[in-house]
Amino acid sequence: VSSTYTERINFIQKSLGKGQVSRDGNDISISCPHCKEHLKKKLAINLENWKFHCWVCDAKGNSLVPLLRKFSSNENLAYYRAHFLNDKIFAADLEFVEEQAVKLPDGFLPIVLANLKHPDVKAAMRYLCARNITEHEMWKFKIGITVSDEKFARRIIFPSLNADYEENYFVGRSIDKNARIRYMNAINDKTSIIFNDYAIDWDKKIYLTEGIFDFIALKENGTCMLGSSLSESSLLFKKLVANESDIVLCLDNDMVKKTARTADLLTSYGCKVEVMDTSSAKDIAEMTNEQLDIAKETIKEWSPKTSFLYKISTIKSGSMF
Ligand SMILES: [Zn+2]
Repeated sequence: VSSTYTERINFIQKSLGKGQVSRDGNDISISCPHCKEHLKKKLAINLENWKFHCWVCDAKGNSLVPLLRKFSSNENLAYYRAHFLNDKIFAADLEFVEEQAVKLPDGFLPIVLANLKHPDVKAAMRYLCARNITEHEMWKFKIGITVSDEKFARRIIFPSLNADYEENYFVGRSIDKNARIRYMNAINDKTSIIFNDYAIDWDKKIYLTEGIFDFIALKENGTCMLGSSLSESSLLFKKLVANESDIVLCLDNDMVKKTARTADLLTSYGCKVEVMDTSSAKDIAEMTNEQLDIAKETIKEWSPKTSFLYKISTIKSGSMF
């Protein structure tokens, strides 16, 4: 038994009550504070990865944060965060996740500075206007275009910058309706970057959308996930959990299952999660201002009950609220 192992056991017993280490030494079982089966020790905590599960009431989680927050002191919670949680979250050590350098397409130019007489630039401008992107947003998101890199011709380029203002990704959306490939993005792994991290205020509520167009239309603090799921191994997930962020999930309505899975996962790590009902349109980018206002007003906190309703609504079809 290593010293950190003993430290873990001591910490659990000090903060959540006396426990019993399993014969194989992988788990410690304590009395579950949820169902208060005081005599029986039915809540098992994995000493390696901090997952817990109560065999009586089925309470479970991926870290002790939800338990400590409810049933222990702020001091113990802070100690857990400082001494154990980061070990878990940053097991792969963020500093060793080397970000590959990303090169924007040759001839990349902010569209607001491009030659508007060029037919591709003109068509791109028309496309952006049709998608309700304002000139202010073109500046803000550094939206660009190239007329010299043939591979990326007739594409809107959305560059992404990391927290140090270095390019870490880009999204290239074709402006042509019948394009064979709608999106041609940077080739590096999107799970190892956070889209436009430099612009995120991590102390505020974080809104997450699937795509960049949804994110622009939403007009909130946050980022896009570049897809409909959030992997536990992604940099975005780790940073959300490390910050214990308050999160609003704004995924497309056809992604109810994935929304439920993502919300449950983030909640199990101690994040506060809310969910936006996006059923009034195909996606956020296509909502009218009125639909968007209503969607924002009806943002609901995620709870075991909403989780349950989401899971039923995937059996029935239609809106779940
Ligand atoms: Zn229980």
